[in-house]
Amino acid sequence: MLRLSNIPRVPERIRGIVDLAYDLWWTWHPQARRLFRALDYQAWRESTHNPVLMLHLIRPERLAEAAQDPGFLALYDQVMAEYQADLARPSLELPGPIAYFCAEFGIHVSLPIYAGGLGILAGDTLKEASDMALPMVGVGLVYSQGYVTQRIREDGWPEDVHHMALDHGAHPLRPVLQRNGEPLTLTVPGFDPPLHVQVLQARVGRVPLFLLTTDVEENSPWDRAISQQLYTTDMEQRLKQEWILGVGGMRALEALDIRPAVVHLNEGHPAFALLERIRQFMASGLSFAAALKKTRETTVFTTHTPLPAGTDVFPFALVDRFVAPFCQAYGIPRETILGLGTHPQDPAAGFNMTVFALRLSGHANGVSRRHAEVARRIWQGIRFENEEIRIDSVTNGVHLFTWIEPLRVQRLLDKYLGRGWRERPDDPAVWEKVREIPDDELWAVHQERKEALIAELAARARKRWQQGAPAANILAFGSLLDPHVLTLGFARRFTAYKRPDLLLHDLERLRKLVTDPLRPVQIIFAGKAHPADLEGKRLIQKVFRLAKDPSFAGRIAFVEEYDQHLARFLVAGVDVWVNTPLPPLEASGTSGMKACVNGVPHLSILDGWWPEGYTGENGWAFGGDETPEERNARDAQELYRLLEEVIVPLYYERGPDGIPHGFVRVMKEAIRTVAPRFCTRRMLKEYWGKAYRPAAEAWEKGG
Ligand SMILES: *Cc1c(COP(=O)(O)O)cnc(C)c1O
Repeated sequence: MLRLSNIPRVPERIRGIVDLAYDLWWTWHPQARRLFRALDYQAWRESTHNPVLMLHLIRPERLAEAAQDPGFLALYDQVMAEYQADLARPSLELPGPIAYFCAEFGIHVSLPIYAGGLGILAGDTLKEASDMALPMVGVGLVYSQGYVTQRIREDGWPEDVHHMALDHGAHPLRPVLQRNGEPLTLTVPGFDPPLHVQVLQARVGRVPLFLLTTDVEENSPWDRAISQQLYTTDMEQRLKQEWILGVGGMRALEALDIRPAVVHLNEGHPAFALLERIRQFMASGLSFAAALKKTRETTVFTTHTPLPAGTDVFPFALVDRFVAPFCQAYGIPRETILGLGTHPQDPAAGFNMTVFALRLSGHANGVSRRHAEVARRIWQGIRFENEEIRIDSVTNGVHLFTWIEPLRVQRLLDKYLGRGWRERPDDPAVWEKVREIPDDELWAVHQERKEALIAELAARARKRWQQGAPAANILAFGSLLDPHVLTLGFARRFTAYKRPDLLLHDLERLRKLVTDPLRPVQIIFAGKAHPADLEGKRLIQKVFRLAKDPSFAGRIAFVEEYDQHLARFLVAGVDVWVNTPLPPLEASGTSGMKACVNGVPHLSILDGWWPEGYTGENGWAFGGDETPEERNARDAQELYRLLEEVIVPLYYERGPDGIPHGFVRVMKEAIRTVAPRFCTRRMLKEYWGKAYRPAAEAWEKGG
């Protein structure tokens, strides 16, 4: 295991880079990124953009050199000044912080503790809270087998390759220390022998993220394994994880003397935090009834999925193994707690984490207007005492400084929008100026991002070729892509309801589209399937076989290992972002937002956020109804029709200057209309007004 002490001594003059390396703040501040690159380009590459690992790899002589280099020092001083100034700003007034709980956080590839959209949203939320100076702390788990890499076999089957255990020392994580300098560990109730949990910390600018792990020496091997795998399919292990996340997470905050005014549960997994919150309120002198009331008033819950598989329901007997002794120890009525997690229409099903969270949250919301309507329908029978549960909507957003490509697109915005978009990203007036960007400049920037994407795919393919991947796979990874061809992107989790094969519905028609001699189309697919989702894996295999089929002329690619790094290339580098879920199952979807803000218009089913986002001029929409008949055939027809009759002609219709002005108009509309409304600034302001502030006031008022 690498240890902090293995970092070579960094000269005093540039000592601040150690703190900066451990603060993921650098990931959304391009100057800081430049600083690490300038420090040692080779180590930067070798560490795959992980400054902590980089500091382990770097030669001490190089550090000494940098500390003498006036050019490096000027950049260093500038970045450190900006960093210090950001940390020194006063926080927004709140009587206590918001504790934001989530089972996964997707902040950067150097901290692989996320699976997909939920985690990316959580990561974007913490970054935005830092930008807004909102007092927030994150609480999650570290998964010691964080690395599962996707490798496509020759027959197209995706394999999940487990890597060695995640090495805390090589990631931007530090142990939280107690006053005596020893690492902070806690015991979480409910385990015999006692279970020890260590608390680690990542920094996201102004926001600390506390991450719990059971992988510590004092625990038995089977207990160490509890926090190994994110979304394990072993129910018992999963319950233990959620118990540790919720109860352990609240205890970690208590041990650190952090008294959250508001608890925000991002999805139902951490809902046991509310049981521990009740316990803490009772310890401060409240009766059970008063503690329950206060917990409700100060809890915000966001539900994310209309799919039953997205909701955890545990057998009562299993839950009771933890809940019964807990309730007994603290004088909490056990039947009441179990009852709060019971679905009235299906009481035998077990303890439902979403039902429990809904009943105990004063503010509950879905993640788009459409999803909130669907969630109200699904959960309409759930009441707290006699009170109907209200499900509000707060539509998701994306963190613009993370997702708008920094080198070219952000600079273009700086040039035409001034500093306004950085200071007031949610102000539609600021974005009006997008209309003034000259078509040729936007087009040139976009074309360059597309070339950068294709070069990145080639570099990945080359690496896999060196590692011995079969030649046909190398072609299928995108080696034959052409930067002058209209390029569709489809990248997300491969699972049945997202219908990644909708584009494949009529193979003859698809072949015609992609092999058209004058106006061809190419498609880049990427995405992982959950290890247990065999249907999702079959879908990958289906796409991969086409990617290898010579009759599609190398114009269909499937790229391995979709993660945040690849996502950043894709959302800025393709021409059109395609989304084909089965309505109403896409709660929000955020990748389309990321594409739009880079000037990549969305071609999507009217589901999730798109009914709110689509204006008629900023992209293309189809098929939002919920009628099941002939569903795939109808949607595929409309998808092909839009491509053949609208999008392909628009893309290839060039002015005398070689620029597709009609298409560029749609690109600009995508940026102008989507950026201010679907950014995390707008989202968090909405949470602040509807949920955080009222909850914090209630917290201050009572006991
Ligand atoms: C944005 C993102 C997602 C979520 O995309 P959806 O459109 O919500 O499916 C998943 N994975 C990664 C790596 C992302 O960046």
